[in-house]
Amino acid sequence: MSQQARGFALRAAVLEVSTGGPVTERSVKHIAIYGKGGIGKSTTTSNISAALAEAGRRVIQVGCDPKADSTTILRGGEDLPTVLDTLREQGKVRLEDISALGFGGVLCIESGGPVPGVGCAGRGISTAVDLLHELEVFEQFQPDVVLYDVLGDVVCGGFAVPIRDGIADRAFVVTSSDFMAIFAANNLFKAVSKYAPSGGARLGGIIANNLQAPYARSLVDDFAGRTGTRVVGYVPRSMAVAQGELYGRTVIESSPHSEQAEIYRRLARAVVDDETTTLPRPLNGPALKSWAKEWGDRIFVEDSQLVEAGGGV
Ligand code: ADP
Ligand code: MG
Repeated sequence: MSQQARGFALRAAVLEVSTGGPVTERSVKHIAIYGKGGIGKSTTTSNISAALAEAGRRVIQVGCDPKADSTTILRGGEDLPTVLDTLREQGKVRLEDISALGFGGVLCIESGGPVPGVGCAGRGISTAVDLLHELEVFEQFQPDVVLYDVLGDVVCGGFAVPIRDGIADRAFVVTSSDFMAIFAANNLFKAVSKYAPSGGARLGGIIANNLQAPYARSLVDDFAGRTGTRVVGYVPRSMAVAQGELYGRTVIESSPHSEQAEIYRRLARAVVDDETTTLPRPLNGPALKSWAKEWGDRIFVEDSQLVEAGGGV
C-alpha cells in the first residue's frame, strides 16, 4: 500500500471510532512483554495481537526494541518507519507517518532506537510513547489493548521505562528453558519487585516459549515456583511459526486451524483477560547459579537414562 493510501486507511479507521466519545485511558489494558533478544517476544506478541484482533478487539502493538521488527509479521514482512527516525528526519510527525494497520486492523508502531552508540534506548521508548499521547492516538483509536514488545536482556534502567514510568500496568516475560533466557527473566523480576511497590507494573506471569526438550516445561515451572510467579502459557517450538515468518505472517493468519494457532488464542485470553498479578521474588546470583546446577545434574541423569533406554534428550 502506498504511503498516501496507508494514511487514508488509517484516518478512516481512526475516524470510524472517534465518534464513540472519549474513553478513559484506565479502561485500556496496557501490557508489556519482556524477554531476552531472540527468545520470541515479537513472534508471541504479534500472534497475541492477531488472536485478539480476530476476536474483534482493537489492538495497538508498540515495538520497543531498537531492532524495529516487532510488527513485521502483522504486515506481510514490510518495514515500518520508526518513531525516532521520523522525529529525527521530520521534526513534525503525523500518525500516518509512523504507523500502519496490520492484520485484523492492529495498529502497528515501532519506537526504533537512538543512533547506535549514542543516546539511550529507554529514553527513546519514553519519547515514542510521549508522542503517541501528543498525537492522541489512544483517544482516537480507542484500543481495548496496547501491547508493548520490549527488549529485556540488557541490564539497563532504560529498558525498565515501560514498567517504571506508568506506561504498562502489567508485565509478562517470554522465556525458554535456556539459562540465559531464565537469567533475563530473573532480571525483569528484580526490576518489577523494585518498582511495583511505588506504582510500577506488576507481573502477570511467564510465557514459556520454544518448548522442545522433554524437561523444558518442568524447568520453567520450577523456576516459576522458586520465584513466586506463574506460567500463563506454554508455546511449543513449531514449524508453523517458522513457515509463517517466511511469508511475513503470524500463525493466526497463515495457519488459522493449526494447534499452534489455538495455543496463541488461549495465550491471548490468559494474558489479556486474567488480571491476576504477582510480586516476584527474584533469586539472587548464588541462588540462581545453584538452581541452574541442580537442573544441570537432573538433565544429565535423565539424559543417561534415556540413552540407556535407546532415546535421547
Ligand atoms: P525477539 O523478538 O525476542 O527478538 P523473535 O520473535 O524475533 O524474537 O523470534 C526469534 C526467532 O525465533 C524468529 O525466527 C522466530 O520465528 C523464532 N520463534 C519464536 N518463537 C518460536 C516458536 N514457538 N517456534 C518456532 N520458532 C519460533
Ligand atoms: Mg523482537
